[in-house]
Amino acid sequence: MSDSLHIVCPHCTAVNRIPSARLGESPRCGKCHGELFTGHPVELDAAGFDKHVGRGDIPVLVDFWAPWCGPCKMMAPHFVQAAGQLEPRVRVAKVDTEAEQALGARFGIRSIPTLALFKGGREVARQAGAMGAADIVRWTQGHL
Ligand code: ZN
Repeated sequence: MSDSLHIVCPHCTAVNRIPSARLGESPRCGKCHGELFTGHPVELDAAGFDKHVGRGDIPVLVDFWAPWCGPCKMMAPHFVQAAGQLEPRVRVAKVDTEAEQALGARFGIRSIPTLALFKGGREVARQAGAMGAADIVRWTQGHL
């Protein structure tokens, strides 16, 4: 493993090179100076998705959800809590499948919420159904 990682900025999608030893020291984006890890899931559109999944060196956990989905809303605060625990080892993100229908179709998302974990640009695990924060963290760590 190299001693620096490409981290995509959640605010401006610039690709930053961060020494892995300094990942936990609240690194900031060299371009927009925003925090690279905010403790909150990043809302991704198709371009943002491709940047984070394709260019970032850390795994990306994605919650495919929709505004009309009750279980998705119930899971949302748990997902935020999980983000706080999984960062900075994992980029935690959300895709609104209503607004980004092409992304949902591309990954064949049939039920929501669906969690999918991406590593090295490829999907490595998927789980449908709402989960609590502890289960989200455990499930993610089990696939890292
Ligand atoms: Zn930035």
